[in-house]
Amino acid sequence: MLQCTAVTLLPPDAVARLTAPGTDTPDNPEPYVLCELGTHDDRHPEHAAHLRPGRTPDAPALWFFWTGSAPDRTHRTTLAPWCPAVLRHLDSGPLQRCAYADHHTPPHSWDVTDPLGDLLAQHLTTDDSPEG
Ligand SMILES: [Zn+2]
Ligand SMILES: [Zn+2]
Repeated sequence: MLQCTAVTLLPPDAVARLTAPGTDTPDNPEPYVLCELGTHDDRHPEHAAHLRPGRTPDAPALWFFWTGSAPDRTHRTTLAPWCPAVLRHLDSGPLQRCAYADHHTPPHSWDVTDPLGDLLAQHLTTDDSPEG
């Protein structure tokens, strides 16, 4: 399944939480966020973007959830627990944890592909090639 293509501008309060003293995020975080879920329909209108990890890898992380687009957008910035799903590779591979917040719309993160991200990764890999 392809990744949702929704993009939204973070409200000032969410940006403020990213730049709060004691966090190791840049002074000017990118104010736009992408929905990270797989494509979802109107029955599941809420988009989700991961903002910042918790204090430990298992701790709830800061997420931005929004529905609709400006000027009718509704949103919330909240700490959300991780989806408990784990993908088990039978051939000795590492376990892969779902990268979404709990109660997200299906499917889990490992079934979602991001064509743009893959394209960028491919481009970077090509640029790194010593054969140039
Ligand atoms: Zn979405
Ligand atoms: Zn999941």
